Amino acid sequence: MDCGVVIVGAGQAGFQTALSLRNEGYAGKIALIDDEGRVPYARPPLSKAYLKGTATAESLEYRPAEFFVQQAIDLVLDNPAVALDREKRTVALRSGRELEWSSLVLATGAHVRRLPSTGPEPFYLRTFADSDGLRNHLAGADSLLAIGCGFIGLEAAAAARAQGKRVRVIGAEGRLMGRAVSPFISAWFQAMHEKHGVEIRLNTAVRRVSESSAELPDGTTLAADAVVVGIGVIPNTALAAAAGLAISAGILTDSWLKTSDPAIFAVGDCAAHPNVYAGGLARIESVQNAADHARAVAATIAGKPKEYHQVPWFWTEQFEAKLQIAGLAVETDETEVRGDPDSGKFSVYNYKDGKLKFVESVNQPAAHIAARKLLEI
Ligand SMILES: Cc1cc2nc3c(=O)[nH]c(=O)nc-3n(C[C@H](O)[C@H](O)[C@H](O)COP(=O)(O)OP(=O)(O)OC[C@H]3O[C@@H](n4cnc5c(N)ncnc54)[C@H](O)[C@@H]3O)c2cc1C
Repeated sequence: MDCGVVIVGAGQAGFQTALSLRNEGYAGKIALIDDEGRVPYARPPLSKAYLKGTATAESLEYRPAEFFVQQAIDLVLDNPAVALDREKRTVALRSGRELEWSSLVLATGAHVRRLPSTGPEPFYLRTFADSDGLRNHLAGADSLLAIGCGFIGLEAAAAARAQGKRVRVIGAEGRLMGRAVSPFISAWFQAMHEKHGVEIRLNTAVRRVSESSAELPDGTTLAADAVVVGIGVIPNTALAAAAGLAISAGILTDSWLKTSDPAIFAVGDCAAHPNVYAGGLARIESVQNAADHARAVAATIAGKPKEYHQVPWFWTEQFEAKLQIAGLAVETDETEVRGDPDSGKFSVYNYKDGKLKFVESVNQPAAHIAARKLLEI
């Protein structure tokens, strides 16, 4: 008997799993569980348009609440899954409710990495409440200190600078977005931020923070009206680990996104999966990865087994630049720039041993789409 599908986590991956199950014609029971109290929403605007004040809370929602009722998706909010019983095939919620499943999908995402704090906590950016809190605080602030020179820190910096705040970015690495882009793009974005008046300090690992200060390795303290920290995330694997599922850099899966228990799948930020573009296991934090994992798993559960096999792609928006990255940034030995970087529209093609590895396009969406095709294995 089919007891239905329970999806733990109603973020990008969990929501898309439920949607794709119905799109694939799956007619069984679907329960979509989340520990946040909001209708499923998109996170990318939290450090971009929503923080800048140009998007509303409603515009972040993937679908209105009625959609879930119409699709017979049992949306259970503010009620975390606290335990899995793999023998009985049940999941227990904090409320005491127990749900049976034939297939279980873990889409638990990730939580922010924190810095040691010397007082009241600084802002972090993962949830709607985080972004809303920072947005409200920024309204009455003159300055922002962003710790972390990855996507989140830089997007928050650009959003605050666009509102006229004095902004400083402190990064531990030697270049901007160092894990995700080429040195050429790092340098171009640094020049753009500096042109907009953002002060950038690299190679500086902040030791401790508070809501209004950061302590540097040399013992000096920087102060600001608001401090936001974006130094990476940690996958939510505790539920899976407690149930005895194999864990590596995330919840371990095969290329069908099946965990070490074949009735349980893991998708999105929490899943460490074999990725042909990474040349091995990868845990990827992106909308593309979450949505495409979900589509593959939904097809498999609906009886059309689908292996995950997609070109990874990412984007970021900072000031006037939309950067789209196709492929995974790896070390390369040849860089070809097409277009004029001074015009703000160009692409960087990165090669290793004569083979195209990843392509970065600034304000060139057509080049990005073409690059995704070029990179297909
Ligand atoms: C500020 C910000 C900006 C971003 N910008 C971009 C971007 O520009 N481009 C891009 O590609 N990606 C971006 N990302 C990353 C992207 O949003 C994530 O990769 C994506 O949300 C991953 O989806 P997910 O469903 O795996 O995880 P999540 O979206 O984290 O969802 C997981 C959900 O599971 C819930 N949960 C966890 N444990 C339990 C439990 N035990 N019981 C019930 N519920 C549970 C969590 O509360 C959460 O709601 C951004 C992320 C953030 C935070």
